[in-house]
Amino acid sequence: MLPNMARPCGNGASDFKLIPMRSVYAFIASLVAIALVHISPIRAQGIGPRPVPERRAAAITGTRAREHLSYIAADRMMGRNTPSPELDSAGNYIAERFRMYGLEPVAGSWFQIYYLTRSDLAEPTSLTVNGTPFALKQGFIPIETTGSGSAFGEMAFVGYGVSRADSSYDDYRGIDVRGRIVLAMVGNPATDDSRTNRAESSARNKMLLAASHGAVGLLLISNPNSSHFLLPNGYPWSALYPKAMNRPPLLYQSPLPAGAIPSAGISGDVARAMFGGDLRAFITAADLIDSLRRPQSMLLPARVELRVSIRRDSTPVRNVAGMLRGSTNPDEFVVVGAHYDHIGHGQGIGKKKVADTIYNGADDNGSGTTAVMLLAEAFGGLAPGERPARSILFLAFSGEEEGLLGSRAYMADPLIPVEKMVGMINMDMIGRNARDSISLAGKSRSPEMVAIAELANRSEPMKLAYDLEEMFYRSDQASFAEARIPVLFFSSGLHADYHAVTDSPEKIDYVKLAHVARLCFRTLWLIAESPTRPAFHEPIGE
Ligand SMILES: [Zn+2]
Repeated sequence: MLPNMARPCGNGASDFKLIPMRSVYAFIASLVAIALVHISPIRAQGIGPRPVPERRAAAITGTRAREHLSYIAADRMMGRNTPSPELDSAGNYIAERFRMYGLEPVAGSWFQIYYLTRSDLAEPTSLTVNGTPFALKQGFIPIETTGSGSAFGEMAFVGYGVSRADSSYDDYRGIDVRGRIVLAMVGNPATDDSRTNRAESSARNKMLLAASHGAVGLLLISNPNSSHFLLPNGYPWSALYPKAMNRPPLLYQSPLPAGAIPSAGISGDVARAMFGGDLRAFITAADLIDSLRRPQSMLLPARVELRVSIRRDSTPVRNVAGMLRGSTNPDEFVVVGAHYDHIGHGQGIGKKKVADTIYNGADDNGSGTTAVMLLAEAFGGLAPGERPARSILFLAFSGEEEGLLGSRAYMADPLIPVEKMVGMINMDMIGRNARDSISLAGKSRSPEMVAIAELANRSEPMKLAYDLEEMFYRSDQASFAEARIPVLFFSSGLHADYHAVTDSPEKIDYVKLAHVARLCFRTLWLIAESPTRPAFHEPIGE
C-alpha cells in the first residue's frame, strides 16, 4: 500500500458518496439466480452457472498461508525492494508455485518484464549568453522533460510560448524562430478554462510547441511582473541536491517525447544578459501581454549556447503472471492481483537507528501475495471440466511501493487485451486487524463487483466494511480502473506497523488471511461464471 502523499495518479476526489445505481438491480437479480442454482432444476440439467466448488475453497488454509508468508516476508528477503535480487527471489518463488499448482504461463512466460528508469543530470551541462557562462542551479536548471544535447543560436522572446488552436492568441505568429533558442514565460495568458490553463502552462507542452516551430532550445523564466526573485524554474535533479535525495526516483515512463529539445528554466540575471543589460524591455513586454492579451514576440540581441546532458539508467523488473484456462469462455479473463514488493531495508525512518532495519512487509503485501498463491492452488486443483467458464489471470506486481509502477507497466502493455478483462480483484494488506471483518473498496465504479462479493460472503460470512474508499488510489486496482475495468479492492486497513520494520510475519492473523482468500475464491468464481459482465461506472465528479 502506498503512503497517502505518494498518490500516483488521479485526484482522489472522494467518490464514495456517489453510487450510480443504474442497471445494478438487474445485475444483482442475475446473481441471485446464480446463488439459487444449488436447488435449481435447471442446474440439475447441467445448464446455467454452477455453484462455487466448496471442496476447493476448503483447500485454502491458514497453515498453507503461514508457509508462503514465512518465505515471502522472511528477513533474508530484505524487504523486497524494487529492484533488488531479493525481489527477484520472491518472484521466482511465486512463479514456481504457479507452476506447481497447475497454472499456465501467459504468452510463454511466467514473467512480464518492464523497465524502470532513473534519470539524472550529468556533465556537460552548461549555459552561455554572448560567451558569458552562467552557473548551473543559480543561473539555470534543466526542466524534467528536457532533451539531451546542445543548442546554439540567436534568441527570440515568445511571450508565454503559447499557440491557441482557435488562433485567438499565438505567440509564434509573425516571428520566425527556426534555428533559434526561444525564451518563454512560465504560465499562460489566463482563460476561464482551467484545463486550457494547465495545458498551456505545462513546460513539456511549451517545449514541444517550440520544437514544432523549428526552435532548437527553450528557456523558461517567471513573469517579471508576478515574480520578484526570478529564480530558475527547473526540475529538482538529484545531482543538484546530493544531500536531500540519495537517488533519483525510479520511474516507469514511456520514452521522452519525440521532439524534445534542450530546455531549462533561467534566472533574472540570465534574462538581463539577453535583453541587453536590463529588464525594462522584458517587463514592458510582459505587461502588455497581460493587459492587452496580445503577443509581444521579438528577436533578442543575444547568442546562446545551452548544453544539457541527461543520464538515464534502465533496470528490468518483473511482474509475475499465470493463468487458468476457462472451460467454456476462455478468451475472457477475471484478474486477481497483489503486489509482492515492499520498501526494502535501511536505517529506519528519520535519524533514529534501530537494530532491525528490514521492512519485512508481512502484511504489506506478503499477505495479498500469499492469497494470490492460495487462490492459484485452489483453482489449479480443479479438473479441466470443473473449471469456471472464464479464464482467471493471476498477477503479482512489483514496483507498487514506488508508485504503482508494476500495475501501470502491466496496463501500458497488458498480456490480455483490455476489453477481455472482465473484472479485477486486488488484495493489499489483508492479514491484520479484527478477525471477522474485511473492507471492500470500488463500489462507486462497480457496484456489481461489490454485489458479487456480498453474495460470495453468504456461505462463510465476514463483516464487510466500506470504509476504505479514500485509499482507492493507494494500490494497484487504480491502474485497472483507469482503463475502465471494474475493480474490487480487499484490505484489512492500516495499523501501527504499517511501513514499519515491525510489519512482521508473527503479527499476521493466518486464520483471517485464509478466510479473506476463500471469500476472494468465491467472488472470483461467481464473476468467472456470471452470464453477464459487471459494468464500469464513471465516478461522478472526478
Ligand atoms: Zn505499502
